[in-house]
Amino acid sequence: MQKVTILGATGSIGVSTLDVIRRHPDRFQVIALTANQNVERMLEQCVEFKPRYVVMANADAAKKLQQALQSQDLDCEVLSGNDGLVKVASLDEVDSVMAAIVGAAGLLPSLAAAEAGKRVLLANKEALVMSGHLFMQAVEEHGAELLPIDSEHNAIFQSMPAGYRTGTKAAGVRRILLTASGGPFRDADPKDLEAVTPEQAVAHPNWSMGRKISVDSATMMNKGLELIEACWLFDVGPDKIEVVIHRQSIIHSMVDYTDGSVLAQMGNPDMRTPIAHAMAWPERIESGVEPLDMFSVGQLNFEKPNLERFPCLRLAFEAAEAGGTASTVLNAANEIAVDAFLDNKLGFTDIAKIIEATMDAIDFKDADSLETILSVDAHARQVANDIIKNMEC
Ligand code: NAD
Ligand code: MG
Repeated sequence: MQKVTILGATGSIGVSTLDVIRRHPDRFQVIALTANQNVERMLEQCVEFKPRYVVMANADAAKKLQQALQSQDLDCEVLSGNDGLVKVASLDEVDSVMAAIVGAAGLLPSLAAAEAGKRVLLANKEALVMSGHLFMQAVEEHGAELLPIDSEHNAIFQSMPAGYRTGTKAAGVRRILLTASGGPFRDADPKDLEAVTPEQAVAHPNWSMGRKISVDSATMMNKGLELIEACWLFDVGPDKIEVVIHRQSIIHSMVDYTDGSVLAQMGNPDMRTPIAHAMAWPERIESGVEPLDMFSVGQLNFEKPNLERFPCLRLAFEAAEAGGTASTVLNAANEIAVDAFLDNKLGFTDIAKIIEATMDAIDFKDADSLETILSVDAHARQVANDIIKNMEC
């Protein structure tokens, strides 16, 4: 029996993970669930999966959940805050941790899971973008097993040579072809992008996801974050990664080998495939995903991305090349700008401008300690917020 903690259980990835677990009660047992403040959904999940621990990051939400659980006959300890998240990510009795908190809030618990030597199922790409060096070092030093959940990285992992471990260089690989749907505005006239609303930006053509990653997909910052994520996971430089727009989202990424072979992983765009793959690895289990019908797909298309239309992707390439804390700054500024956009305080095309101005205002340094990462993250958030305030004046 594999004992599991799910960080971010109430989100899109968390719910898909529980759906896979529901299909395999003989294989997986939920030990802990966590969320920020969605008490209602967490209560439902507690009733169904009976975790031993539940963490609400928000202290008020933890109190409400505690009250709501009193009428249920459940032996479940309610914790709150970062300490609670870190605790359930590193419990002795837990084998695997699904890291599916969105954004920088996921860094400390995801890192704690790596430091506790767990099987880390990593969806929280921001953790790796902020602190890839430290994260990969923790995985290596503590004998953790890092398996990618992001569909592209999971596809690359599946297309790697037999016995491949994340964080190592794969023999015979020439390039990684990182596919991207291009998001909802891949064909939009750049002039029209200024007026894009949050509702339009979160309506992704192929995938159903949380709001932040949906906006990231619309700006293509998601692909930029994934580029940096791939550099760390597969130990390659950004020059070895090519972003390929593939609008059908059927091929989830490819590995190009020196002998001319290109291996791809395909399937319907449903996150339960990479989740089930990583949870059961190296075995295969049923995930609930419909079989791929090639005849209804009909065509697969590939295009080059337009970096003028998608400046966020260019900024991420620049951050990957600069190294050090550049991607910590990129990630922090992006989180602030996306939040402001979702709050109707910023236009869609301003997101890239805020990130670029923040990156220009900050000198990058070596990302060699957690203190450095956390202080650069906080500073970049402050700078980005100030730039937004000045724009409003
Ligand atoms: P989501 O917004 O649907 O869910 C986020 C989860 O994190 C929720 O459970 C929420 O309660 C929790 N959370 C949010 N803020 C928190 C905080 N401050 N402290 C503690 N918990 C907090 O997001 P999602 O779409 O499930 O994405 C989760 C992560 O997975 C992101 O890093 C995203 O980039 C990555 N990812 C998602 C998908 C997808 O299809 N949704 C695909 C690939 C990668
Ligand atoms: Mg992805």
